[in-house]
Amino acid sequence: MTTRTEPAFTRLFDLSGKVALVTGARTGLGKALAEALASAGADIVGLGSRPMPETAGAVTALGRRFREIVCDLEKPHDFPALAADIVAQAHGIDILVNNAGIIRRQDMLDYTEEDWDAVMTVNLKSLFLLSQAVARHMVATGRQGRIINIASLLSFQGGIRVPAYTAAKHGVAGLTKLMANELAPRGITVNAIAPGYMETDNTAALRADPERTRQLMERIPAGRWGAPQDLATAVLFFAAPASGYVTGTVLPVDGGWMAR
Ligand code: NAP
Repeated sequence: MTTRTEPAFTRLFDLSGKVALVTGARTGLGKALAEALASAGADIVGLGSRPMPETAGAVTALGRRFREIVCDLEKPHDFPALAADIVAQAHGIDILVNNAGIIRRQDMLDYTEEDWDAVMTVNLKSLFLLSQAVARHMVATGRQGRIINIASLLSFQGGIRVPAYTAAKHGVAGLTKLMANELAPRGITVNAIAPGYMETDNTAALRADPERTRQLMERIPAGRWGAPQDLATAVLFFAAPASGYVTGTVLPVDGGWMAR
C-alpha cells in the first residue's frame, strides 16, 4: 500500500542538485563513496593527486556530472583559492568528504620524520585546511552543508607500527567534534565514518600476510574484510537532509570490531 508519507521520506535521502567534493576519489573507499553519492543524485568533484578516469566513468554512467581536480595534498596549497576554483567550476559545494589518506608502516623506534610529516600533512593538516575553506563558502552562501571525514579504528585504538597514522586519525576524530560544535549554529553538520578493515590498497600489506589476516579475521565478528560499498549507507545518511540533527559523531562501520 502506498502511503502519503513516502514521497517526503524519499526526499530526506535525495541529493539531487547537490555537489559533493570527494578527496581521494580515484580508488578504494573514495571511489565507492563518490559512486554512492552520485547514485543519490549528487554531482561529484573528485580530488586526488592523479587523474581518475574509472571514477569519472562510474559517476557519469549514473547520469551525474563529474569534475576532476588534480592536486597533491602533501604539497603546500592556497586552500581558499583551491576551494574558490572548485566553487566556480561546480557552482558551489554542498557536501565535503575528506577521504584522502596515506599510511606508512614502521616500528615506532625506527619511524622517520619524513614519514611522520607526509602522513600528518595528507591525513590531518590538509583535511583541516580544506574543511575550513569549504566551510567558509558554506557559511557565506547559507548552505545546510555536510562535512564527512573518514576516520579509522585507529581513531579509537593505538595500533602498531603506524604512529603518524594513529596520531592523525585521533586528530580527525577530535577535529570532527570541534568543527561540529562551531558549525552547528550555521546549519552545517560534521560527522566521521570509521571504517574497519577494508579491502583496498591501504590494507594490501596486511592482506598479503596470512598470519595477520588470520588474527584480524578471528577478531571481526562479521568474519570478513569490509568492501568499499559497505560504507555507502553511512555516507548517504550523513550527506542527506535526513541527518540534519546528527553532528559530531564518529560512526564505526567495522563488522563489529569495536564491539568485541
Ligand atoms: P587507497 O585506495 O590507498 O586510497 C587513498 C586515496 O587517497 C587515493 O584515492 C589517493 O588518490 C588519495 N591520496 C593519497 N595521497 C594523496 C595526496 N597526496 N593528495 C591527494 N590525494 C591523495 O586507500 P583507502 O583504503 O581507500 O583509503 C581511503 C581513506 O580511508 C583513508 O583516509 C584511509 O586512512 C581510510 N581508511 C581505510 C581503511 C581500510 O581498511 N582500507 C580503514 C580505515 C580508514 P591519488 O592516488 O590520486 O593520490
